[in-house]
Amino acid sequence: MALELKDLLCDIHTHTIASGHAYGTIRENAQGAAERGLKLVGTSEHGPKIPGSCEPIYYACANRIPREMFGVEVITGVEANLLDDGTIDIPEMLLGFLDYAIVGVHGFCYKNHGAEENTDLLIKAMGIEKVHFVAHPDTDKYPVNYERLVKAAIENRCALELNNSSLRKPQERPGCYDNYRKMFAECVKQGCYIIVNTDAHDPSEVGRFEKAVELLNEVDFPKELILNCDLDKFKAFIDYDYDRIMGF
Ligand SMILES: [Zn+2]
Ligand SMILES: [Zn+2]
Repeated sequence: MALELKDLLCDIHTHTIASGHAYGTIRENAQGAAERGLKLVGTSEHGPKIPGSCEPIYYACANRIPREMFGVEVITGVEANLLDDGTIDIPEMLLGFLDYAIVGVHGFCYKNHGAEENTDLLIKAMGIEKVHFVAHPDTDKYPVNYERLVKAAIENRCALELNNSSLRKPQERPGCYDNYRKMFAECVKQGCYIIVNTDAHDPSEVGRFEKAVELLNEVDFPKELILNCDLDKFKAFIDYDYDRIMGF
């Protein structure tokens, strides 16, 4: 049966003004999520190496963010930057204040090392405890070996992201459509979860998964491997702890 927008219950890659180049607040993002029928939204500001993003204390105080707004559950993460040595730009101590981390490649803090080494570096970062997602592994600018990336994702309890923003602006992520088709084929073959995110930089984008749903239906991607479709499964995947009290 075809995937429908309403089957995707969460969007965990969204940005707010705290990222320095996004334009809404967490409340506005949560309101957007509520309007689009989501049950859960994750706020994931960029790591500190993106110009204008948060200071470390921002992540350390994330427990001040209400866990529910507009009837939508709110969780807090970070879109950490992969660095050229396979580490990320946020220390594990700070990750302890957050529910999850997404690792992503961004040109500000990473140069292309070629498909095999890009894959090795992402695999190293996937080994970090809180890292459970790889953002937009989809562009010819930073190619990866999907067979190896998918295998390592399974071994490290990571899900690979389908990023709706890439599909909306393929000129910025060249090759993304074909790369996603390759990634999906490996995910199905090996049994790897994906997560569908909007990467919203404005509240109007939160939960707008249209392009992603179209592509997933084109390849008949199985719902069972889409983490957004089952929030219990999603929460178990990130070891979600509602009673997390760390923070200042
Ligand atoms: Zn990103
Ligand atoms: Zn992002």
